[in-house]
Amino acid sequence: MTPATGRPSPVTAPVPFFPPDLFEEDRDTVLRLLYELGTGEEQKFILGEHTRRFESELARRLGAADVVTCASGTGALQLVLTALGTGPGDEVVVPAFGCAPLAAAVLHTGAVPVFADIDPHTLTMDPADARRRVTGRTRALMPAHMFSVMADMPAFNTLAAEYGLRLVEDSAVAQGATLAGRPAGLWGDAGVYSFVQVKSFGMPGEGGAVVTDDEETAQRVRMLRNHGQDGRHRFLHHLVGHNSRFDEIQAAVQSHRLPGLSARLARRAAIASHYTERLTGLPGITTPPAGTDGRCYYVYTLLADDRDALREHLTAHGVHTHVYYPRPLPEQAAFAPFAAPPATGRPSGPKDAPAGRTNGFPWPHALRAARRHLSLPVHHMLTDAQVEHVADTVRAHALRTG
Ligand SMILES: *Cc1c(COP(=O)(O)O)cnc(C)c1O
Repeated sequence: MTPATGRPSPVTAPVPFFPPDLFEEDRDTVLRLLYELGTGEEQKFILGEHTRRFESELARRLGAADVVTCASGTGALQLVLTALGTGPGDEVVVPAFGCAPLAAAVLHTGAVPVFADIDPHTLTMDPADARRRVTGRTRALMPAHMFSVMADMPAFNTLAAEYGLRLVEDSAVAQGATLAGRPAGLWGDAGVYSFVQVKSFGMPGEGGAVVTDDEETAQRVRMLRNHGQDGRHRFLHHLVGHNSRFDEIQAAVQSHRLPGLSARLARRAAIASHYTERLTGLPGITTPPAGTDGRCYYVYTLLADDRDALREHLTAHGVHTHVYYPRPLPEQAAFAPFAAPPATGRPSGPKDAPAGRTNGFPWPHALRAARRHLSLPVHHMLTDAQVEHVADTVRAHALRTG
């Protein structure tokens, strides 16, 4: 990526947010695996040899962890919460800005999500606000790594230890990242990954994984993902479980793609670093926290004062962008009933919320992020020219309007 020269960008075709040819170079392997497993004598399509191998490859890569694959990242969250004993009467503190599974997975266990505000710069759950939302009913904290930044896991570890809470790490987007030398996923009692196509280690289908250093939790998750069976005796159900099993063909595909993951992540990080270099200091634009420690570069998300105009400008110049969470979770119809401020009859919220919070929206930073964030393409298949075109286009808009 060479510095801007002021010459018009050579890119004319649209710059896709996610690559449509993501699995092109694996095409022959995918077709071969499909044929081999489809016509294999075993006729084993879930939870077989390939799944076991993929799990142990991931575990080895992470260190001492155990890995249990399952049907999705959302499923993984639910399995972890259930394995840790979350249920009716419990509260789980989750970020007010983030994806629906953060709240839905909690509700599906019978517990209630309690929303904490985010840090305005990292956009991840603010440990100080999370602390204010802890009550006698709180069972767990569930921070999520967001866009390109890992949550402040050391602070959440301290908080969890102080109140005797479980710590669930939503690392769905952060596979391969480390913070202070410790991999994303291994900071709490358990973490999760998502393998859905668009994630950094996406695959052609749905899947996820639970990662943990705790053998008992891993064992419970293993049983829960397959109707509470222990894997030795069929039709013996020790727990009320789920159908959240993993596909053999996908496991074989992921084993094939795993060795290339580090290089793909490095390419994402290089593109992100170039964006930051070219976009920092522009009027009305805030770039995400720079660096590599605690960074994952799932997507590159900046904050823009006139987000919608910037987005239109980018679209007009062929650059596809995403606004992930146009509303904070407590503003979504599905979750609003669980998010009423204490004064108006929140069913099970904190009794000690600071007074100021009930006047305006109780999660001001989440609301501001929802209105201002815009994600740029950062996937590893972007060419240098496309990266330059994206940066040029953002610059042109900011300098013209700023
Ligand atoms: C994608 C995602 C999930 C859910 O993963 P799925 O595999 O799509 O179910 C959960 N949390 C976060 C932060 C995510 O980005």
